[in-house]
Amino acid sequence: MEQIVTYLSADQIAERVKALGADIKRDYQDKRLAIIIVLKGSFVFAADLIRAIDLPHLRVDFLGVRSYEGTESSGVVQITNDLSRPIEDEDVLLVEDIVDTGLTISYLLDLLQTRKPRSLKVCALLHKPARAKIAVPIEYLGFTIEDRFVIGYGLDFGEKFRNLPFLGVLQRA
Ligand code: 5GP
Repeated sequence: MEQIVTYLSADQIAERVKALGADIKRDYQDKRLAIIIVLKGSFVFAADLIRAIDLPHLRVDFLGVRSYEGTESSGVVQITNDLSRPIEDEDVLLVEDIVDTGLTISYLLDLLQTRKPRSLKVCALLHKPARAKIAVPIEYLGFTIEDRFVIGYGLDFGEKFRNLPFLGVLQRA
């Protein structure tokens, strides 16, 4: 039997997301901010994050990506849903749930750079530096975590557990 143990509580996450929103607001006051939400894992984080960014002019778009099978990164990134509009001359902030090996975000940064945004930065809720295979700049980071497979708050295990309001780990009871 496995049980879910809380890793980061809903309150801890909410407090950090609020602070990230304030940082982003400060840095993007006079910019054309396009928030790109990397599906599916980031949708819960991004929903909270955009409501913590008090700017009148931000826009949101979605990028569907599949890069992960089970609990091991394949390193192969497949675009399942492309952006609905160009990002040329916009200040793009890519919102990711977790940077693990870094392969996904690195691929996406290269891809989006070819579309000539004015700037391109990364906001990630979680970073697992122990597993990094490639260095990626994360301008806005929620939490650095140890090498644990986390679920909840949008993150899945076999498409389950995305609806947990907190981040947890599975542990043998
Ligand atoms: P990377 O390419 O950086 O290795 O992996 C990025 C993607 O792998 C994330 O967007 C996420 O979907 C998935 N992933 C990496 N670590 C975890 C984890 O601890 N839990 C879950 N649920 N997904 C993870």
